[in-house]
Parts: sequence; C-alpha cells; structure tokens
Amino acid sequence: MLNDSHCHFFSNQFFTTLSRQRGRGETVEQLCRELQWDEPGPPDALAERWIAEMDAQGVGRAALIASVPGDEASVGTAVARHPDRFVGFFMLDPSADDAVERAHNAMETMGLQVLCLFPAMNQVPLHDSRVQQVVEVAAARAGTAVFMHCGVLSVGVRRKLGLPSRFDLRLGDPLGVARLAMAYPNLPFIVPHFGAGLFREALMAADTAPNIHLDTSSSNSWIKYTPGLTLDAVFKTAVSVAGPRRLLFGTDSSFYPRGWQRGVYESQKAALGTVGLSAADEALIVGGNFDRLFPPRAA
Ligand SMILES: [Zn+2]
Repeated sequence: MLNDSHCHFFSNQFFTTLSRQRGRGETVEQLCRELQWDEPGPPDALAERWIAEMDAQGVGRAALIASVPGDEASVGTAVARHPDRFVGFFMLDPSADDAVERAHNAMETMGLQVLCLFPAMNQVPLHDSRVQQVVEVAAARAGTAVFMHCGVLSVGVRRKLGLPSRFDLRLGDPLGVARLAMAYPNLPFIVPHFGAGLFREALMAADTAPNIHLDTSSSNSWIKYTPGLTLDAVFKTAVSVAGPRRLLFGTDSSFYPRGWQRGVYESQKAALGTVGLSAADEALIVGGNFDRLFPPRAA
C-alpha cells in the first residue's frame, strides 16, 4: 500500500492568510488566478478532491498538513470526513500566546495527530521552553508525532507571491531534534526531506535517537549542496544508518491542478530500487511505516 507522509492542504484559510500578509486586500480567487492554481473551495470540497486524486493515483492514505498557523480546523474537517484515509498534521507557531491551547485543541478536539514546527520560520530555538511546552502536549497523547522542519527552508508559494521570508536557518538543526527526541523517547519525531541539506546531521540525529524518522519528500534539490551527491546515494546511506523502518515516503504535493506528484514518487522509487532492499522493506518505506505510526482509523 502506497501512503504519502507529506502533503499540504492548501485551504481557503491558507490563501486568506497569505493575502492578509501581502496586504493588498486580494480575494482568494484573485490570489489563485495570479498563481494559476485552482481555488480550493471549502475544506470538505478540497478533502473530496484529495480523495479523488488519491484514488486515481493509487494512494491509500496521506498526511495533510495545515500549512499556516491557525488553519487546524480545515484539516480537521478533512480528517473527520475520511479518518481512514487522512492523518492530520498542523503547523504551529510556538511563540504564539495561545500555542499550548491550540496544540491541545487540535489534537483533542479536532483529531489531528502531528504537530509541525518550523523553527527557522518562527524564530524559536529548539531548546526554548516554548517548544518543550507544545511538544509535551503531543507527548501526553498516544498516536501523535512531532514534525520538525530542519535545514534549508523556502516556501514556493511565498516566493511566487513576493512575500518576505526572513527565516533564521540556524535554528532548524537536526541535532537539536535529537536532544528533544531523547527527552521524549516514546514520541516519534519526523525530520522531512532527509534534513533538507543537513543530511549528515539528520543521520547523526537518527543514529542517536531511535524515535527519529526521516521523510523522503520533495524533489530533494538540497542534494546540490553536496558535490556529487545523488538521490540513490541518499537512500542507500539513510537506509544503512536509520534502517528501513524509519524512512517515510512522501511527495510534498500541495496545489491543484498539479495534484499528486507522481514524478516525485517515480524518481524516489527508482532510487529506492538501487538500494537492494527486500520487497518487504521497500513496502515499509512506501507505506508500512506510516501505517505503523498512524494506524488507520475507522471511517
Ligand atoms: Zn512540505
């Protein structure tokens, strides 16, 4: 079974937030026309579009990330409609006054399972007590995880809209994730994109803390920072350090009409094929590990 551990739910609220940040008073329709993307419509309609796309592409289950703080309810709607197909992830700004309450509400009331932190974006260091406070909300509940974006961070839609992205890249350090993961050994941590440029550090962190997982998502263009590095070598090294049980396949799909990024899947599948894993181990990476971390819920 093919499961995608990294998809963005670009909801109406997501575009409304970007429009507010841009400050030109544009409607979601205007913003989407400029981007040449489809308007998402209400969250239940967008959820159905995702289901139709996953059915067409042979994707069993997917993580849906609420991709701006404050958009938990949109993904909550999608998860409530299809608890057997979607796992709810949500971006949270730990510097917000109500961060702990928001995290609690998202997990307790809305059924979301994965807290997503972007330390470089929110400018909160991983050793800050505000991070610990929200991580504790996840740690106190079964079936949850923490997603921690590390390494290079560029948000394509922000760039396209000319929104400033003054991120402090020093703060997204996998070694800081290792420290937290050791403090909460029963809580799974997910570092996306193999550490997004901090591959060595992500491997060191995974080698140190057995609850750290790496997601394989996106085109992984960060490999350009290391001379001669190939996606084949990335998969081979990640498997040799973290083993096949801690890699989670993902695409980083987000907007329509592009939809689910089959090309990303195919290039990763080809790279994975060069590692020489058994079919059972490959199946873990493309779906089994996701099901183990987030067992399907009854529809
Ligand atoms: Zn992403």
